[in-house]
Amino acid sequence: MQIPDIIIAIDGYSSTGKSSFAKIIANEFSFLYLDSGALYRGVTLYAIENGYIDDANVIDVEGLDRALDDVDLHFGAEGAYIGDRCIEKEIRSMAVASKVSPIATVPEVRNFVDRKLREFGAKKRVVMDGRDIGTTVFPDAELKIFMTADPLVRAQRRAAEMKAKGENADIEAVLRNLQERDYIDSHREASPLSKADDAIVLDNSTMTMEDQMVWLKKIISERFGC
Ligand code: C5P
Repeated sequence: MQIPDIIIAIDGYSSTGKSSFAKIIANEFSFLYLDSGALYRGVTLYAIENGYIDDANVIDVEGLDRALDDVDLHFGAEGAYIGDRCIEKEIRSMAVASKVSPIATVPEVRNFVDRKLREFGAKKRVVMDGRDIGTTVFPDAELKIFMTADPLVRAQRRAAEMKAKGENADIEAVLRNLQERDYIDSHREASPLSKADDAIVLDNSTMTMEDQMVWLKKIISERFGC
């Protein structure tokens, strides 16, 4: 299937499989995949390691904002990097997961990440996943998908993923973390998680990845005549 030069924005709740879906879409249509959550996680790792967020999640916003000017956060061969250090493993830890949503409420952090995403996305043929891609980062994206799924199904999938990587995965803790993140993400003032009016909802609670691709291709062929 040949599809035109468009931006595909995938938003939705935590652990709904946005990034897995986006990676497969990128592979299928030779699009660039951008994981916006990885940038928020990268900022969070940086903030933890440099003392800009404490145990009670109090954030030194001014200090962090100033420091971000010199943080070379980018994507490379193995995922997210700060300078030449690959941070993929660290940013997926529970330590980062438990602080990323508070960090992502900070408007200065959101501006920093948005600037990067818009630079990366300027060329089109991009699929990007996150919470506010279709509403704020690329409101003119030609195709917007909003993903959701049953919370317990999401927690089970996430815990299985963690176990496969040899990490400790307590379903209760994973469920709590994703519900907390959904709550903070949906209720923050700056670009809260919400469905764009023109986004199409995908509830994948009982769908396989193959089902999702069939669903997507039907939409693409109807919308773009290909
Ligand atoms: O997608 P992922 O779960 O890796 O995102 C981690 C966190 O980053 C989310 O829970 C959310 O707080 C934040 N985020 C955001 N806006 C985005 C992408 C992620 O606020 N576009």
